[in-house]
Amino acid sequence: MISYETFCLNCRDVEERIRQTCVHFGRSYAEVALLPVTKTHPKEAVEYAKRYGFKAVGENRIQEAEDKQMACKDIAIEWEIIGHLQSNKAKRAAESFHRIQSVDTDKLAGKLARGAEEVGRVLPILLQVNAGNDPAKFGTDADAVAALLESVLKMPSLRVDGLMTIAPLDEDMEVARRCFMRLREVRDQLAHSFAVPLKELSMGMSGDLEPAIEAGSTMIRVGTALFGLRS
Ligand SMILES: *Cc1c(COP(=O)(O)O)cnc(C)c1O
Repeated sequence: MISYETFCLNCRDVEERIRQTCVHFGRSYAEVALLPVTKTHPKEAVEYAKRYGFKAVGENRIQEAEDKQMACKDIAIEWEIIGHLQSNKAKRAAESFHRIQSVDTDKLAGKLARGAEEVGRVLPILLQVNAGNDPAKFGTDADAVAALLESVLKMPSLRVDGLMTIAPLDEDMEVARRCFMRLREVRDQLAHSFAVPLKELSMGMSGDLEPAIEAGSTMIRVGTALFGLRS
């Protein structure tokens, strides 16, 4: 694990990349949040994030996230799930996490809604869209999001904040850029036809945050550039 000092330097570097990209594309720095992704890293990563002033961390696996939450009981921070969630774990997830960014089926949404209802909360979610048509990625197809959104909007224990995507892994940054532009388009269309804000566009990671900001990202999810390589 890197030292807290190194983590701070990494944060400054990433923040500077975000700031310069915002300037370049005429966006406001305040509109682009940074979510530190602590997956595979020990609980110190969560401590660093809290100490630096982040309000949330991202984790991609339920079991690992729950174990880390137990180890971090005394740290007041929000936990967001950004990885694929099996519907048999949805009930637990609806109780334990602040927001689920990876909702991609009606079945999963239904189970999350019931889980949230049972504990009497409204669970914030994002719909994960496979905007890059990548066979290796989860997420609903871009042309099926409308149906999913329509169904989720009927579930009062869920609150849809927006959309999330992961770009296909490709050296050509144009591939990521097209994926992010597509997500933005899909969001704009849905927001218009359903008359809902869908404000959040969670897109961009360590290697592709620039095209994500260009396309309108409101949340960059960064692991490697903050905490170093995952083992
Ligand atoms: C791991 C992960 C990230 C962070 O990726 P880095 O390349 O390490 O910044 C972002 N989003 C999701 C969904 C992830 O699983």
